[in-house]
Amino acid sequence: MMKTKIALAVLLTTFVLAPASAAKSKKAVKASASKVVKKSAKAQPAKAAAVAESAPAVSSAPAERKSDRWMDTNSQQFLNALWKLDPEGAIDAGKYDGAANLTIPNAATRSHAVAFADEWLQRLGKIDARALSNKQRTDLALLVNKLKADRWRLTTLREHEWNPALYNIAKPLDLILTTEYAAKPQRLRTLLKRIANVPAYYQAAQASIVNPTHEHTELAIAQAPGVMTVLADLGKAAQESILTQQEKAIFAQRIANAGTALIGYLDFLTALDQRQQAQHNARSFRIGKDLYEAKFGFDIQAAGSAEQTYQKALAAREDLLVRMNGLADELWTKTMGAAAKPAERTKKIGMVIDKLSASHVARADFFPEIRRQIPLLQDWVVKNNLLTLDRNRPLVVRETPLYQRGVAGASIDAPGPYRPQDKTYYNVTPLDGLSAQEAESSLREYNSWILQILNIHEAIPGHYAQLVYANRSPSLVKSLFGNGAMVEGWAVYAERMMLESGYGDNAPEMWLMYCKWNLRSVTNTILDYGVHVQGMTQAQALDLLVRQAFQTPAEALEKWRRVQLSSVQLTSYFSGYSEIMELREQRKQALGPKFVLKDFHEQFLSYGNAPVKVIKELMQ
Ligand code: ZN
Ligand code: ZN
Repeated sequence: MMKTKIALAVLLTTFVLAPASAAKSKKAVKASASKVVKKSAKAQPAKAAAVAESAPAVSSAPAERKSDRWMDTNSQQFLNALWKLDPEGAIDAGKYDGAANLTIPNAATRSHAVAFADEWLQRLGKIDARALSNKQRTDLALLVNKLKADRWRLTTLREHEWNPALYNIAKPLDLILTTEYAAKPQRLRTLLKRIANVPAYYQAAQASIVNPTHEHTELAIAQAPGVMTVLADLGKAAQESILTQQEKAIFAQRIANAGTALIGYLDFLTALDQRQQAQHNARSFRIGKDLYEAKFGFDIQAAGSAEQTYQKALAAREDLLVRMNGLADELWTKTMGAAAKPAERTKKIGMVIDKLSASHVARADFFPEIRRQIPLLQDWVVKNNLLTLDRNRPLVVRETPLYQRGVAGASIDAPGPYRPQDKTYYNVTPLDGLSAQEAESSLREYNSWILQILNIHEAIPGHYAQLVYANRSPSLVKSLFGNGAMVEGWAVYAERMMLESGYGDNAPEMWLMYCKWNLRSVTNTILDYGVHVQGMTQAQALDLLVRQAFQTPAEALEKWRRVQLSSVQLTSYFSGYSEIMELREQRKQALGPKFVLKDFHEQFLSYGNAPVKVIKELMQ
């Protein structure tokens, strides 16, 4: 901790006192990337990313019915009011009108937010959902859920008392600095106003923290250098700008005050954490059954409970392992030759997977191979009558911009809902930054089979195809507050549906790798529920991931970290997927010989990013 603090202090003095010349290369990268709206979602994205994946669309078609028009008016008024209340949320959505205002996270702000939710719940409660068309009806359901969830977060979950990492000023500052929504001097003056209240912000944060978890405290401390870097970038940009000398002086002073306030907050957290560690009275990162069930209800909006979803995941895992066991037997001689076959199921499966993983593209071919596969997937989907694809909206495959690069992988980068004119990209991170060993590990993970499944999930007919369909039913409400479990569930469903259609020639290798990939989603659900509700230990979690789900130790450790810091989001993949599979089965039963897979897909996707249980109601 001491080390971090000194580094921060050094950084602070460096950017206040040093001439504006250092960190030039970093700035250049940011500037060139500034036009790209920072909305992305990885194969297993964080919660915010799942929402960002949803449709970029602004409602334009006039509603037919009077009740629909009334609902649209309410939605618009609600969003206008919301962005006034939540300028940070507005910036995230690409709206910068109130960007100069920094929300102070104190008790008054929170009670104001609760009153806002109550007021709007009452107002929306007067609208008769049965009188609305599908689009407005689903919008209404999503808004009501959002407001109830906000209310519950503030009054019951009370994360503001135990998650110090909630208090982070960096992202809106970075977005204002790097998004070209206005001329740079204007954006800098907005920033100058915004940073004036940073000391008050951290004082309010400190006053709000009651009993933080050790894990979230560590996260807040670990993220602090990144916040300092953003402040340093701001300071430099201001000094290099055409602002007046006086403005520059105020800027430097406010940046210094902001940095000092952040250091004060870190001192407070460190002391509190040490005290709690000594007294063993820190709050657990496990949220427990009651909070978990309630959060699952709001975030996932599934037909069943979290516990039922967990039970389904256990059964799905056993089905997968039985199938994988059979596939490993089938592939044994072909892959392992005369080697002795272990009696233990997971050991045997693991050996075959390990062997097959050696089949992968060369490092230099990673990006070209992904680009090559997209039109092939498109042709397959069309030829096999799975989904109509819009040929006028080709997907742009590109290398991930530098500032977005983290771990190797791929993501769909869709524009924010207020910037529908921007393109949608399939970002692929080339492997050039990695050591030979790291690259080999990534290539084995995204081997000959999994790479195809990844493309199905991210692009066609997964996230990208879903996005194109969602755009046809433009709804600002659904693109802002859409259901992440539906979005992820569709992509996971798309993988299975493609293999069922014969993609990959029904090769046992393809099915085994698919099962491994699908087991990851299933295991996410088991892990999340196990850790937060049942007290699963780290050793048990790593065994579940590495030995029983064939993941690398590095991947498992990363997942363990994620499950300590988040809850419920990890269940969205399997939850959405299993509900779509069930819905398809029900439609098959109901329609008999009239069931057409393509019609099912197109109807399912036509409602936008609504929860699967709502889509189910509308389909019947
Ligand atoms: Zn996904
Ligand atoms: Zn290799």
